[in-house]
Amino acid sequence: MCYHGSCNCGAVHYQVHGDLSDVVYCHCQLCQKMSGSAFLAFGSALHQQLQIFGHEAMQSYQATMHATRYFCRHCGSNLFWQPQGEYGDTYQCIALGTLDTPFEPRKWQHFYTDQKACWFEIQDEQRCYATCP
Ligand SMILES: [Zn+2]
Ligand SMILES: [Zn+2]
Repeated sequence: MCYHGSCNCGAVHYQVHGDLSDVVYCHCQLCQKMSGSAFLAFGSALHQQLQIFGHEAMQSYQATMHATRYFCRHCGSNLFWQPQGEYGDTYQCIALGTLDTPFEPRKWQHFYTDQKACWFEIQDEQRCYATCP
């Protein structure tokens, strides 16, 4: 499978030559701030299967001790985040809203439901975690 994605202005675009795994809808406060919405939906791609174009338009931000976020410096689209540690060495997390190729995950997980926006209700049967597993 090959997925294409881009920021809103097109300065940064990317291709994933492989699968998107470990889909998470993260409801933590940080993801609310970063997305400007109720949650941030992301999937993971192997580093060697992810090709990013327009690196010079990308800005990074050390969001927590454990994660760096990447966004377009021109339009502000949230594109990627990079967890530190073993998982981050293998995978890059991709904000699913930036995909241009249709992607229909069969399952996903809700993280940090104890921080969920009170104005948003989870209405699917997917697994929920109060924090992260
Ligand atoms: Zn952009
Ligand atoms: Zn989060």
